[in-house]
Amino acid sequence: MTTHTTKIEKKAYAKINLGLDVLGVLPNGYHEVKMVMQTVGIYDVLTFEKAAEGIVITTDSGELPTNEDNLIYKAVKLLFDKYNVTEGVRIHLEKHIPIAAGMAGGSTDAAATLKGINELFCLGCDEEELKEIGVKIGADVPYCVMGGTALAEGIGEKLTALMPTPNCHLLVAKPDINVSTKYVYEHLDALESYEHPDIDGMVQAIEDGSLTGVVQRMGNVLQDVTIPAYPIIETLKERMIELGAAGSMMSGSGPTVFGIFYEEARAQEAYEQMVQDGQAKQIFLTGFVKG
Ligand code: ATP
Repeated sequence: MTTHTTKIEKKAYAKINLGLDVLGVLPNGYHEVKMVMQTVGIYDVLTFEKAAEGIVITTDSGELPTNEDNLIYKAVKLLFDKYNVTEGVRIHLEKHIPIAAGMAGGSTDAAATLKGINELFCLGCDEEELKEIGVKIGADVPYCVMGGTALAEGIGEKLTALMPTPNCHLLVAKPDINVSTKYVYEHLDALESYEHPDIDGMVQAIEDGSLTGVVQRMGNVLQDVTIPAYPIIETLKERMIELGAAGSMMSGSGPTVFGIFYEEARAQEAYEQMVQDGQAKQIFLTGFVKG
């Protein structure tokens, strides 16, 4: 007897950047980056169910579009068109990842959708094909298909898998502000110079299994733009250090700030204290996730 799956569920994990450098602007206007990406334990849940026709998206988030502007829709459309799928799909998104936060929330939903649709409709794509389709949606999507610890170069799509970063207790705080990625990159271009983090050194520290080596090299050039414009980012970073974090940094183009703790009890106390402070809109205590 053959059984046909008609409904599946996928977790879409968020990422942080342990290091983020911008090397320059490419002739096509995109920025050439060099970043260390790390999957973390904050995730959205997507359910996929076959339907007779159409692409219907529902979500518990009041802030997101459910039409063709949602990256989930774009992912389905690319696969349906490529493989001439004539059936339809209903997708529900349970949103937990902070939105427009520098945690690749939209990109990871798109990546989970590529995987979910591939499975549900038995399209037979391997990971490489899904990454190739993913880059048409956004530069971070191929990384999200892969997950874990990786070095991302080019516009973020040239990926090298790394050993898993030694785990830690990770505090993540998103202040109640929205930062536009476009604004951040435009203002970075206007800066005369900035200090480049040692990404090669960080990659070596990861290969050596040294979490302290990683923490010592944490750096994100985009902070040079966001911190002067949004001082709450610096406030949250300093607060995490005050509460015992070994290192603290902004992820991606912000405004999310994370802190790395070596001890669970300290991280738990810091989490409770920051919830009490009320300076961040969303706070999570989590850790790294392997690919
Ligand atoms: P990155 O780290 O890749 O820069 P981000 O965390 O800054 O991503 P997202 O959460 O991906 O940003 O959201 C950016 C914009 O994308 C939002 O303003 C939102 O309207 C749009 N968007 C479309 N689809 C989604 C989705 N499924 N989840 C989140 N945002 C989405």
